[in-house]
Amino acid sequence: MFRTHTCGELRLSDSGNNVTLAGWVQRNREMGGLTFIDLRDRYGITQLVFNMEVNPDLCKEARELGREFVIQATGRVAERSNKNPTIPTGDIEIRVEKLEVLNPSQIPPFTIEDHTDGGEEQRMRYRYLDLRRNENKKNLLLRHKMAIESRNYLASKDFIEIETPYLIKSTPEGARDFVVPSRMNEGQFYALPQSPQTFKQLLMVAGYDRYYQIVRCFRDEDLRADRQPEFTQIDCEMSFVDRDDILNTFEGLAKHLFHSVLGMDVTDFPRMPYEEAMKLYGSDKPDIRFGMTITELNSLMKGKGFPVFDQAELIVGITAEGCAEYTRKQLDELTDFVRRPQVGATGLVYVKYNPDGSIKSSVDKFYTPEDLKPVLEVFQAHPGDLVLILAGDADKTRSALGGLRLEMGKRLNLIDPKVFKPLWVIDFPLLEWDEETQRFYAKHHPFTAPKQEDIPQLMFGDAKKVRANAYDLVINGVEIGGGSVRIHDKALQQLMFQKLGFTDEEAANQFGFLMNAFEYGAPPHGGIAFGFDRWVTIFGGGNSIRDFIAFPKNNAGRDVMIDSPSEISEEQKKELGIK
Ligand code: ASP
Repeated sequence: MFRTHTCGELRLSDSGNNVTLAGWVQRNREMGGLTFIDLRDRYGITQLVFNMEVNPDLCKEARELGREFVIQATGRVAERSNKNPTIPTGDIEIRVEKLEVLNPSQIPPFTIEDHTDGGEEQRMRYRYLDLRRNENKKNLLLRHKMAIESRNYLASKDFIEIETPYLIKSTPEGARDFVVPSRMNEGQFYALPQSPQTFKQLLMVAGYDRYYQIVRCFRDEDLRADRQPEFTQIDCEMSFVDRDDILNTFEGLAKHLFHSVLGMDVTDFPRMPYEEAMKLYGSDKPDIRFGMTITELNSLMKGKGFPVFDQAELIVGITAEGCAEYTRKQLDELTDFVRRPQVGATGLVYVKYNPDGSIKSSVDKFYTPEDLKPVLEVFQAHPGDLVLILAGDADKTRSALGGLRLEMGKRLNLIDPKVFKPLWVIDFPLLEWDEETQRFYAKHHPFTAPKQEDIPQLMFGDAKKVRANAYDLVINGVEIGGGSVRIHDKALQQLMFQKLGFTDEEAANQFGFLMNAFEYGAPPHGGIAFGFDRWVTIFGGGNSIRDFIAFPKNNAGRDVMIDSPSEISEEQKKELGIK
């Protein structure tokens, strides 16, 4: 036997047993006539001890062992005199009698311990060393557990895992595709899937009823902390269901994961229409762990001669409890915050409801305390509170205030990182108008069904007002997944493509296979896809999905360990017909 136990396994009850362990040297230290080695493997750390008096040759050999050497050690389990309560094996040590170096190691470029001295770049370059650290190990184990538990739940509900192809066809909708040149079909390209959307719908046409896949997807987008060019989805689709069947099924998945992975019983999944989310939170992925909802002030604040408000489409505000004593500097910081391009407001108006009951605002010139009283009343503000107001174009102003709300939530410590508050956002708009290209885009994707009652509006009315039968699962302000009931009728799908500005020919060219399939008995169906990396990150309490992916790419989309992307040889290019 190569080893009898792992490095995380032995306890006081094993004392006296002869064991063999194998692993990496984490630390090597001398104390008088003794040499101690912390031996590490995936399961933990066990202390090895060598005694100069008992076996000088072996002890000398042990002293030569460098960090990250791979060794095998045989000896007897003994109770430690100096116990370490912080590790499960801390009561024992191994008095080594036999030692074998399985492989030496260079001195690692950074220390492989919980607190490492390695910078980001260095750790990415030596990712296999970084992955030896507890933090990364913990994240990957969490990911594994969530994958297993997702599979358990979905299998228990009769979902079957089916693989769909990675080499597919490029379509102009959605994000940019990664493309792969075809050697056998010179001048032609495959695309890597942005999602298995059309395939999973075809599986419904094929009668598989309930499909899922934990699947890699590829999108050639600019990267942010929560984006990777390749990422993983839990992709699901089901037949003969309406929206509520789908939401209930996947609420079940979320509950199962909360329970089995985090040991938490999260039961409340409110459903909030998109419009309400935008109105109350200025976001389609509201963080509902705290209140501070948005209130409209048009009727109270227009017509008092303040031109900015009089000209604004929308005036909205929030109350920050207990902040009336904010200093000039603090208020300036908030103004700078809302003016950042990512937030996009032009200025910030405040009303201080002072602890002594007096009222002071940044627009005192235009509003008397009497004018401002009703404003404080709609907010149910108390002395000591601060009201923050933004005005301008309706959509932009709402989302800017949504940004300020989050900022205030953080500043005031209203957001408890240990609490999970999921919700479904439903009834998204079906289409989004793009000024630049002067056309509609599907807010979700072109296969999303409009709400039944909005179909006449889509056919004859204002397409902007049509609501989709689409939904997102949001947890703590992060969009964890999204899906929709699908169109399963060829005529409606054709109408949708028309609204998206496709000619019949273009639609047939790109999605003919799907529309044809709809002529062979497509069942009513719908589904959802969850961003698995994000979900794991939220459960792990992390900030970046990169920390929960074994081999992630950096901000420039590069893998610095294998140095990719990279050039290819002239010969390869020739073969592929690329100049
Ligand atoms: N395919 C969609 C996406 O990737 C999800 C879905 O509609 O099921 O966002």
